[in-house]
Amino acid sequence: MRLRLIVFEKAALPCAGIIIMKKNDLIEITVSDISVSGEGIGKVDGYTFFVKDAIIGDTVRAVITKMNKGYGFAKTLEVVSPSDIRVEPKCKEARRCGGCQIQCMSYQAQLDFKRKKVRDNLVRIGGFKNVKVNETVGMEEPFLYRNKAQYPVGRNKDGRIIYGFYAGRTHSIIETDSCFLGPAGAEKILNTIVLWMEKYNVEPYDEEAASGLVRHVLIRKSRSGEFMVCLVINGQRLKYADELAAALPFVSSISYNIQTAKGNTILGSETVTIYGKPYITDELGGLKFRISPRSFYQVNRTQTEKLYSAALEAANLKGDETVWDLYCGIGTISLFMAAKAKKVIGVEAVFEAVCDARENARLNNIENASFICGRAEEIVPQMIEAGAQGSAEKNIVVVDPPRKGCDEKLLLAILKIAPEKIVYVSCNPATLARDLKILCEKDYRLESVCPVDMFPQTVSVETVCLLCVNGDGSL
Ligand code: SAH
Repeated sequence: MRLRLIVFEKAALPCAGIIIMKKNDLIEITVSDISVSGEGIGKVDGYTFFVKDAIIGDTVRAVITKMNKGYGFAKTLEVVSPSDIRVEPKCKEARRCGGCQIQCMSYQAQLDFKRKKVRDNLVRIGGFKNVKVNETVGMEEPFLYRNKAQYPVGRNKDGRIIYGFYAGRTHSIIETDSCFLGPAGAEKILNTIVLWMEKYNVEPYDEEAASGLVRHVLIRKSRSGEFMVCLVINGQRLKYADELAAALPFVSSISYNIQTAKGNTILGSETVTIYGKPYITDELGGLKFRISPRSFYQVNRTQTEKLYSAALEAANLKGDETVWDLYCGIGTISLFMAAKAKKVIGVEAVFEAVCDARENARLNNIENASFICGRAEEIVPQMIEAGAQGSAEKNIVVVDPPRKGCDEKLLLAILKIAPEKIVYVSCNPATLARDLKILCEKDYRLESVCPVDMFPQTVSVETVCLLCVNGDGSL
C-alpha cells in the first residue's frame, strides 16, 4: 500500500493551495462531532471526513478509505492526542464490533453528546430557536442492560460454526464470547445451540450463497430470568427440534421463525413454537407484559421505566382523558396510562403485538384500553371520519414511531383531533425534529424535551417531547 501523509507534505504538493486527497493517503485530523452511525467528524482543508474509531476531541492519524465528491471516509491508525473524554473500552472487540460505537467515551460525555444531538436536530431540522433540552436521563450502571439480542450465525474462515455480532457497516460476523451490553447468560444458550448444530449437521446460513439454515438466534430475557429463544431459519422446518429443546431445559419458550427472503430483515412473518409457551412475560412498573417473538419491546428495562414515567409525567393525566397511543406495540405505554385516564385507544401495525396488547390488558385487569391493528396513518383518519375524537372529549395523543418517524398523513390527522397535548416519544432526533416542525407550525408549542439514554455505549438517543395546544406559530 502506498501511503502519502497529506498534512505533512503540503509544501511538496503541486497546484498552489489545492490538495488532491485520495484513497490510502494519510491525514491528521481533529474530530469535532460524531455522525449518526458513530464515526468522528472532522475537516482537513475544509474537506469533511467521517473517521472510524475517533471521538470528539481526538486528534488522530488516519488513512483515507474512500473519497466522495463532498466528503470522505477514513480509519484511525493512531490516536495522536487523545480527547479528555476518552476512556478505555471494557470490551476488547469495541473497535471492530458495530454494536457499541462510543464505548471509548466517558459515560457523562455520552449523555452530554446525546443532549446536544437532540438540540442540534431541533434547531437545524425543526427550526426551533430557543429550545431548552433537559439533561439526558442516564443509567447508574450503563452495561449489561439489554434484555434482547439477535445474534447472526455463520462459519469462520476455518469452517467452524460461530455466532457474534456484525462488524460495523458489514455483514462479517465478529465472534464474541461475551458482550457487555447483554443479555447476561446468553452465551450459554448460544454455545448449546452451536453444539446441537454440529452434532446434527444443521448448517448455518451462508449469506452470499443464500444457502444453509440457521440465520440468527434471537434471545430475550425477562426480569425474573426467564429466557425465550427463537431460531431464525432459511427454510420451512427445523429438524431435531426436540433434541434442541432437551438441550435447553432452562429456556421457557423455544421457537423458530421462517425467513427465506434475502436481505437485512431479520424476522419473517411466521413463527412456530417448538417448546413451551409462544411468549415470555416481563414486568415493568408493576405491570405484567406478555411478549411474542415478533412483537416490539424496549430492550432496556431500567430505562424504559424512566422513559414511560417521563411520558406519563408529560401527559399529566387527570382521569377524564381519552389517550390515543399510536404505534403502541404490546400496549406498554397504553397500560401505563390507562389507570390515570378515562380510556386508551392503542393502534399498532403488527398483528401479534396487538394480540399481546389485548392479552396484557386482560392480565393486568385493565378494562378501559382497546387496541386496533393497522397502520396508524390509515386507521386514525378513518376513526376521525367516524367521529372517534368526539366533540366533548378531552384527547391526548401519544406517538412512539419507529426511526422513520410519523407519516405526514398521520400528523395531519392528529392536528384534526386537536388534542390538548401531544406526547412524542422518539428514537430518532432527525425525524422527531421534522415532525415537530409540522405539528408546531400553527397550533402547538414545544413545551419540554427530555432525552433518555436507552442505549448506553451507542449513538442512539430516545426523547420524550411534550407539545401543548395554543402555540402561536413561533418556534
Ligand atoms: N410504544 C411501544 C412500541 C414502540 S416501537 C413501546 O414502547 O414498546 C414502534 C411500534 O410501531 C412497533 O411496535 C411497530 O410494529 C409499530 N409500527 C410501525 N409502523 C407502524 C405504523 N405505520 N402504524 C402503526 N404501528 C406501526
